[in-house]
Amino acid sequence: MRIILLGPPGAGKGTQGERLVIKYNIPHISTGDIFRAAIKEGTELGLRAKEYMDQGKLVPDEVVVGIVQDRLTHPDTKNGYLLDGFPRTLAQAEALDASLQAMDTPLTGVVNVDVVEDELIDRLTGRRVCRGCATTYHVKFNPPTVRSVCDKCGGELYQRTDDTVETVKQRLEVYRQQTAPLIAYYGAKDILYTVDGSREIEEVFAEITSILDRQH
Ligand code: ADP
Ligand code: AMP
Repeated sequence: MRIILLGPPGAGKGTQGERLVIKYNIPHISTGDIFRAAIKEGTELGLRAKEYMDQGKLVPDEVVVGIVQDRLTHPDTKNGYLLDGFPRTLAQAEALDASLQAMDTPLTGVVNVDVVEDELIDRLTGRRVCRGCATTYHVKFNPPTVRSVCDKCGGELYQRTDDTVETVKQRLEVYRQQTAPLIAYYGAKDILYTVDGSREIEEVFAEITSILDRQH
């Protein structure tokens, strides 16, 4: 099962991804999580990525593509993986296609999670993330049992520095210009499945799994 989750920031890629990787027993590869971990560790990659992330811009293709190409050579990807937040530009999608072709590992499907923009702003500004395990919550739509404490690991929840109204607007603009064209790109390859991401988390999950189960 080799899956891409496509969709604007706040569509629920991370939320669905967390659940899908448990069901299909595959690794969750989120480029955003990789960059946030690098920032936390204070590595050179983290310093470089932070500059772009804080402005709501994309990290340059050559940086991101190399990281994902390397990650896909790890043995845990042998039975598949879920890509969340990658690819985000046509250049990234083309580079991924070339790598997958060389490895003879075609994608199972690209799931496009569709949510209207007003809802995205509410979701992103209310998002909270666990410092320990990166599980995602929402203050209203998906709150933890105890305020600011992760249900899974007891870690502290924080608000991402790029989840402010101003940066969110910039990220949505970047999505429209650079990432939305990927819908047509994968649509032309007949591997695109669009789901209505505005429904309850469990309903969206049920629709995605029913689509993916049919591709096996
Ligand atoms: P993405 O990874 O696509 O940026 P997230 O999965 O982090 O999006 O979700 C963004 C925010 O919206 C989070 O706070 C999450 O809890 C919340 N959320 C996710 N899916 C839903 C949903 N179906 N309904 C309401 N809120 C949701
Ligand atoms: P996310 O966690 O997916 O919302 O990503 C947070 C930020 O990380 C984005 O706003 C970008 O700055 C950066 N980022 C994550 N994935 C990519 C990618 N595939 N290409 C470029 N930048 C990315």
